Formats: sequence, C-alpha cells, structure tokens
Amino acid sequence: MFAIFVLFVISLADLTLQAEWTYNQEYQWPGVCNVGKQQSPINIMTNEAVVDTHQVHIRGPLVFRGYNDVPLYAVNNGHTLKWSGVADGPAPILQGGPLRGNYTFLQFHFHWLSEHAIDGMKYPLEVHMVHIKTGLTLDEALLRSDGLAVVGVMFMVRNGYDSGRALEEIIPMVPYLGDSSQNKTEVQRIDVSRLLSHQPQSYYTYHGSLTTPMCQEVVTWIVMDKPVYITPEQYKMFTKVDVGGDFNYRSLQHPNGRVVYRSIASCASILLPTVPGTLLSLLSCLSTTLAAGVNKGIGIVLNVKRKIFGDTAKKCIKLN
Ligand SMILES: [Zn+2]
Repeated sequence: MFAIFVLFVISLADLTLQAEWTYNQEYQWPGVCNVGKQQSPINIMTNEAVVDTHQVHIRGPLVFRGYNDVPLYAVNNGHTLKWSGVADGPAPILQGGPLRGNYTFLQFHFHWLSEHAIDGMKYPLEVHMVHIKTGLTLDEALLRSDGLAVVGVMFMVRNGYDSGRALEEIIPMVPYLGDSSQNKTEVQRIDVSRLLSHQPQSYYTYHGSLTTPMCQEVVTWIVMDKPVYITPEQYKMFTKVDVGGDFNYRSLQHPNGRVVYRSIASCASILLPTVPGTLLSLLSCLSTTLAAGVNKGIGIVLNVKRKIFGDTAKKCIKLN
C-alpha cells in the first residue's frame, strides 16, 4: 500500500531553469545558489561527523518500502539522465533515520563525477534518489526546510564479482538518451533498491540544498558511505551521454558550520578491514540494538570499541 505519484510532482524538472544554466558558469546561477549558507554538495570530513548515539537526530533505521518494482521512464534533460515515476504508479516510501514522517520517491538521476566528496575523495559517479515529504505539493515542499530528502550513493568502477548488477536494468536504456533532443523512453519496471549501497544503514546526513538552480535549501541529505561497484563498460556509457559539457557536477560548497551526522552503523563499519569476523558481527549486532532505541548499552559498547580499536573509535565517538 504505497502512495500514488501525483502528476505535478512527478519530476523536479520544474525546479530547474532548463537549458538556462550551465555547469561551467556556476557564478551566474540564480536563486540562492550563490548567496545561500546551506548549499550542497559538500566535502564530508568523516572525523568531524557526529555520531548521534543518543538518537536525537537519527532516531532509528532507515526504512525503504516498495523500491523493488517501480514503473519508471527515463529522459535526458540536458543536465543529467533521470528516471522518474509515472502518474498513478506505485511510489516507494522512505522513512526513519533522520527523517520525520514519510517521504515519497519521485526520481533518481546521476552525476559524473560525484557531487559529494568523502574526506576529499570524489567518486566516478553518484546517484541521487529524490523524495518529497508525503502529502506536500512541490511548491509547498520547496518552502519547507524538510520538504525534500535525497539519498546519495557513490559508485566505483571495477571488474569483478557482482560489479555491474546495480545498473543492469537501466544501462540498456542509456543508448536511447544520447542527448536532450531525444524523447523519454518507454516505461519499464525497475528494481530501484539495486542502486542502494549494500549497507544502507551506513551513511552521513546533513541539511543542504538542491545542487541545481534554484538551489533551494530544503534537502535532508543522506549520503551512503559504502560504494556500489559498476563495470568500466557501464561507466563509459555515461561519459558518452551529452549533458551540455564534459561533466555534470556542481563544485563543493562551504559547510558554514553545519553539523554532519553519521549513523552508528557507519561508525562500526569504518573498522571493517581490521576486525575479526566474529567480533565484527557482535559489534554490528550491538549497533543495531542501539539503533533500535535501546540506550542502556551505549556506554558499554563504546567502551568495548574504545578498548579494542583505540584511536579510530575515539574519533568516531568524540562528540557524543
Ligand atoms: Zn543530483
């Protein structure tokens, strides 16, 4: 039982002044793009991110409902490739984590290179899954600081086991989207959950803006910290698409003192490479318990982490 797409919120096309702005002239972007103090994307510094162990900001796990089978059509809007929901189709719902209430999925689109950076590192590709606060019209959402929620997922390129599965369903549509003069594709049912990180509870979150004009500061950003792997051939197909220039990412914006929160799961998984398997599952199990709202064990878990992992764990918990 999912919400229904409403025609006027199908896409964010109306948000942007199509073809009237370019990525190599950002200084001319209208709206609050050049004067806002909560702009996106940003460079996320992991050591400065706050772990919300008392669950004031991140109150529980993110919940994704209905992402497995979504009817979508694709379009090249001159700035990106975008897959949008159809009117009256079933719309996935996102809730939990830093979000208050439900958010209805609208569309996903890509940036190459990535827009966000993590510890100064950019990725070849980033997908943005755009959601609107359920029940609001687009006009209403653009006037509220909590109007939109965007999930960002990073992609890395490599040949190997499981590489390419995430984009398997949508890549065949890309050749039909060479430039913006082409029409939208036929509607296809797509498993949007494939685009999510394998550890969707491991993420950073902060308040920011749309990364295209008018750059409204109405977005709860959820940036997953575990990348998804795609093949070199898949990546090459994106780079051949005409989006008005060689790239389609906005430059990094000043954080202006904003707090970036990180989920407890991201704090646990940062230690992955050095931790024996059993201990690891114990910790992730405990973290899940914490995320579910049990405050009692926090001190114990943190002490365990502190003892075992030393400095890394300290950095992860220093701002409790
Ligand atoms: Zn985007």
